[in-house]
Amino acid sequence: MGKHEFQTEVNQLLHLLIHSLYSHKEIFLRELISNASDAIDKFKYATITEERFKQVSWSPRIDLRFTEGDHRILEIEDNGVGMSEADLIENLGTIAKSGTKNFVAQLSGDAKKDSNLIGQFGVGFYSAFMVASKVEVQSRKAGEEQAFQWSSDGTGGYELETISKESQGTLIRLYLNEEGNEYGNRWQLEQLVKKYSNHIAFPIFLHYEKTEYGKDGAPDTKTPTVDQINSANAIWTRAKSELSQEDYTEFYKSVSHGMDEPLFWSHVKAEGTLEYTTLLFVPKTAPFDLYHANFQPGVKLYVKRVFITDDDKELLPTWLRFVRGVIDSQDLPLNVSREILQQNKVMKNIRSATVKKLIAEFSRIKTEEPDTWQSFIAAFNRPLKEGLYQDHDNRDAIAELVQFHSSKESGLTGFTEYVSRMQPEQKAIYYITGGTESVLRNSPLLEAYNKKGIEVLIAADDIDEIVIQGYGKYKDHELKAVNRADAGEDLKTETDEVAAKEAAPVIERVKKALADMVKDVKASSRLLESPACVVTDDTDPTFQMQAMMRSMGRESDLPAIKPILELNPNHPLIVGLKDASDATVDDTAHVLLAQSLLLEGAEIPDRVDFVKRLNRLLG
Ligand code: ADP
Repeated sequence: MGKHEFQTEVNQLLHLLIHSLYSHKEIFLRELISNASDAIDKFKYATITEERFKQVSWSPRIDLRFTEGDHRILEIEDNGVGMSEADLIENLGTIAKSGTKNFVAQLSGDAKKDSNLIGQFGVGFYSAFMVASKVEVQSRKAGEEQAFQWSSDGTGGYELETISKESQGTLIRLYLNEEGNEYGNRWQLEQLVKKYSNHIAFPIFLHYEKTEYGKDGAPDTKTPTVDQINSANAIWTRAKSELSQEDYTEFYKSVSHGMDEPLFWSHVKAEGTLEYTTLLFVPKTAPFDLYHANFQPGVKLYVKRVFITDDDKELLPTWLRFVRGVIDSQDLPLNVSREILQQNKVMKNIRSATVKKLIAEFSRIKTEEPDTWQSFIAAFNRPLKEGLYQDHDNRDAIAELVQFHSSKESGLTGFTEYVSRMQPEQKAIYYITGGTESVLRNSPLLEAYNKKGIEVLIAADDIDEIVIQGYGKYKDHELKAVNRADAGEDLKTETDEVAAKEAAPVIERVKKALADMVKDVKASSRLLESPACVVTDDTDPTFQMQAMMRSMGRESDLPAIKPILELNPNHPLIVGLKDASDATVDDTAHVLLAQSLLLEGAEIPDRVDFVKRLNRLLG
């Protein structure tokens, strides 16, 4: 009881809401109605799963009441699960969800930037303070006697007291401020509910006074009236033909708690052996927590229109964690345990069919809607790549979607497109990893490929290496990294053989000079301008893999890996070594090895030695 302080993050969030989101202030109603609907969902679930509530007769509803005049009041009441004293403290004074906390921490204080960020984020209950100078929350938790009132003016803290409340649920009372006065109005409220909350599955009633007119046509009496103002059927249960673009968009905004429109959606009603409905949306931009380990899942599970959970990270595979929406099953038991949902066979089948359907939709977008495809890839190429790596059932379909840069194309391209451009005699799909796009584009390893007109995929995403290596083969085409020894063999021509023979004595001398610093020294068929490069043997981890393992402190797991040094037999520097002194060959060999390692982004074994030798050669 008594006075309580807000957690620091709550103050930050409130400040931000009031200063950067006021042009969207009307969303407060959507947020409060959505909370009311969630609370009803929770109680409905309890009436099915908890013995003590099974006998309760109850009809779910949300009521809106307002007063007109100078100091207007707006009330939003639900008969849902309600909150205990502890719930009020936990939910309305702190930010409990770590995702939300992270979000607040990301805010810059720059109103414009922040309001963009907040567009893809649920602002929730606290948005009430955009339109109210004071907020009272009266609540009684289902099954409990005691009721409590939480009240605050949104500056620094709140007060708690016991009250008496007849029925379970929550009443939110807003003392509207200047910004909010317009919402103490029948037409405004009706419009807002239609716009934002029409799909809420429970009836929303508006209480107002209807003016009756006398015989002379003048206003006479005012009659208290209650009207239901939403259609109260869950949008996903309705026929596609009945739904407008706007219906979908508004529903998306309410499930994502955002202001952005979705990029596209997929509404599927499956009938037959498995009966279920899915309405799933792909956002325009990646959710802010896409790469957080504790991301907030975006899909809600319903069974026969009863809400079951919105906190199951495995309703869809993790690579699809950017998808928002609902899955509603006819066949799952209502009291399905949330814990063992994943083992449930029906759930498994729905999940697998849904993933296939989504992938099919992504493919359709790819061929039919180029602009949407561009935005989709800009935001979600990387999770798709995770899918290629993790989702063994669907990897071939996902391989048709993932995109890479390419040595021949300026934009992004995929495996299919690459294959359609392959040279007739080309043996494999080549790719290069281990750096930023521009570094990779200029790598000496690409010289011969460029000259021969063979395309190389520039795989510049940090996960590309394990993803492509893990996939191994696209259709009949092996995927080969150009920084592997084997890929060089593919390029070999007869002239290369001749040149290699001629350079054999030089190669022998270099090999002797470097002794056990390298695994081998070879004549290269992939270099034009550069004198040398290093590659890794096909069975060894690449330089990037080695660096990654070192950074994870797994140095000890690494075998002693040595590079293969390849020399360009046609390069004047190499040709010149033929008649050079042993001392010069020795220095040149070490310097060539060191510079090639540097270009690969690898460490050089001995910097001091390198500089000494280089200076000697320059001298
Ligand atoms: P969110 O809805 O995203 O969790 P909010 O700030 O809107 O965030 O609400 C915080 C929490 O307060 C909710 O998760 C819920 O537990 C509780 N809450 C809010 N409104 C109600 C309500 N009308 N009935 C019961 N609990 C509520």
